[in-house]
Amino acid sequence: MRTVAIVGGSLAGLGAARALRDQQFDGRIVVVGAEDRLPYDRPPLSKDFLAGEVGLEDLALTTADDDGLDLDWRLGVPAARLDRAAAAVVLASGEEIGADGVVVATGARARPFPVAQLGGVHTLRTVDDALALRDELRAGARLVVIGAGFIGAEVASTARALGVDVTVIEATPAPLAGVLGPDLGAVCAGLHGEHGVRLICGVGVTRLLGDGRVRGVELADGRVEPADAVVVGIGALPNVEWLAGSGVAVGPGGVRTDAAGATNIAQVVAAGDCTLSDCSFAGTALRQEHWHTHCSSPSPPWRACSGGRSRRRVRSPPTSGRTSTGRACSSPGTACPATRSRSSRATSSPAGSWPATGATASSSRSSR
Ligand SMILES: Cc1cc2nc3c(=O)[nH]c(=O)nc-3n(C[C@H](O)[C@H](O)[C@H](O)COP(=O)(O)OP(=O)(O)OC[C@H]3O[C@@H](n4cnc5c(N)ncnc54)[C@H](O)[C@@H]3O)c2cc1C
Repeated sequence: MRTVAIVGGSLAGLGAARALRDQQFDGRIVVVGAEDRLPYDRPPLSKDFLAGEVGLEDLALTTADDDGLDLDWRLGVPAARLDRAAAAVVLASGEEIGADGVVVATGARARPFPVAQLGGVHTLRTVDDALALRDELRAGARLVVIGAGFIGAEVASTARALGVDVTVIEATPAPLAGVLGPDLGAVCAGLHGEHGVRLICGVGVTRLLGDGRVRGVELADGRVEPADAVVVGIGALPNVEWLAGSGVAVGPGGVRTDAAGATNIAQVVAAGDCTLSDCSFAGTALRQEHWHTHCSSPSPPWRACSGGRSRRRVRSPPTSGRTSTGRACSSPGTACPATRSRSSRATSSPAGSWPATGATASSSRSSR
């Protein structure tokens, strides 16, 4: 096997490149990234970078040690499709990158609020999103955050510390109750209050109001919350559309993988936020959008890209860590209602193979 294409140039993509070299892969590694930037850290985007306390240079994920990885970066152009017949990743520019193995590391994007074409409405996933939002966080401005999940809570905390008047709207009865349970959800609600964030739970948002620029948020009970800016923090969608028609098993929750990142297609592995992976601790498949999980989980071994069985398995429970309202929240394990697995069924084809183009590429894996 001579070329591996890593699609997605962020935390999981860089981790895969490092793992390939650690595992003595000495062929060519092409990293395709839709963003026009080298990999950077996203957690500070809702915290100290949003607050203006750290700069762009502090976000870099690459270090001097990575110079030795000898990576062929293709930044600023997304992959448009995976052509299994041609054993190639096809970029939006039309360029085809022949590859014997592919790592899917395309992450996720912020879920938008339906029909919100107004100025002053933000989501937060990229550096550019954070820079645009930072401009809105002026002392005394009224910010409405839709969704009291991790991103919503972190933005609320950061904005409040900057003197912004923050209201958080959460459709469920308590913040983060689905992830942390009702007791810790109540603790989180208390923390918002202690820090001067107004929290409205148990009511959804029906409409964003404004003409050209957002001026308010209409709630399901008819209330209108005035807003100078709005942050929509209602979850993330896996970036998997480019795999349509490739035969890689993909469902609404992401690329379906085993615990080590192997997909149903030999020579294609996946890692990071775009995956819906078997989790023995949860007894079901999960999409885990946590920095810590991706760093502590084994990166997909290149043997899997070449059709061999994945040998490394997750041995410790997933862990996540967040900070908000000046508190660190670290949670070993995961909350995983059994019902989640029902929505995670893969929708595409059964096991398949990647055409062997290299001397050492092997045939499709028969079992996982
Ligand atoms: C604001 C914010 C705060 C966070 N805070 C925390 C925290 O405190 N703790 C924690 O554990 N986790 C946190 N996370 C989550 C953590 O950052 C993610 O789990 C991690 O970034 C996932 O890495 P990834 O490489 O899988 O995906 P991503 O970081 O989403 O990267 C995927 C990359 O692939 C690119 N891409 C997408 N489609 C294509 C395509 N077709 N072709 C080529 N490239 C493509 C994207 O542009 C992107 O650069 C936070 C996330 C955000 C957004």
